[in-house]
Amino acid sequence: LVSRKWKVGRTQVELGDGVVIGNGSLSIMAGPCSIENEQQVRLTMDHLRQNNVRIMRGGVFKPRSSPYAFRGLGVEGLKMWYTLAREAGIKIISEVMQVSQIEAMYDYVDIFQVGARNTQNFNLLDELGKVDKPVMIKRGISGTIEELLYSAEYVFSAGNEKLMLCERGIRTYEKASRNTMDVNAIPILKEKTHLPVIADPSHGIGIREFVEPVALAAVMAGADGIIYETHQKPEEAASDGQQTLDFDESTRLIRRLTKAFELK
Ligand code: PEP
Ligand code: MN
Repeated sequence: LVSRKWKVGRTQVELGDGVVIGNGSLSIMAGPCSIENEQQVRLTMDHLRQNNVRIMRGGVFKPRSSPYAFRGLGVEGLKMWYTLAREAGIKIISEVMQVSQIEAMYDYVDIFQVGARNTQNFNLLDELGKVDKPVMIKRGISGTIEELLYSAEYVFSAGNEKLMLCERGIRTYEKASRNTMDVNAIPILKEKTHLPVIADPSHGIGIREFVEPVALAAVMAGADGIIYETHQKPEEAASDGQQTLDFDESTRLIRRLTKAFELK
């Protein structure tokens, strides 16, 4: 069902208030790895609004390699974020880690993000298939393109067609970067599926200085959108600071992405 053989034309995901993903314009989603506090949310939203970015990312349930690392503010943090985002006219994308969180998060997100560690959590995908809110599925850490497409098939076949995919780098033998951003996956996915394809250069390479070139490569490869991490003080971020842009870097990236997209 997610194949281009099945559907003529491309899926567009509508978030309301004129925000649409996959309509031929470049969608930008930016924000911190983790939602930390009200001041951070306000500063980030001011930054996004200054650059006409309409979608903010941020985790409130964080999948951390170590159980002792910061695990997120939970639903209370999401509610605080949502209240401020609605005032600012900003849409929210946030990761859902398990089935029980779907209902708890439902009223406070615009896009449910399925993280790379949950790409093949088939119970979660089944349940997201019954929800009438957009879903973005990230590629599994060691997942193939075909596996990502089958994960999408779970959600789509259960009834939710507001779906998009995200390339976020895969684990290879290469240790010079956090993950290996598979830029190849972007044109391949665009060829195989009618769903919008988003690229995450932050997790894709994991190195702050190189997020921009990888993001630009993803745009030239045909991505419908870019999702990346930004923070007012990356050095102090609760998670993923090493791959997080400050607001000046983020502003420059947005400018360059927009230019690259126009040249395409
Ligand atoms: C994230 O977006 O912060 C995240 C945890 O991403 P991934 O699931 O791709 O590791
Ligand atoms: Mn992160």
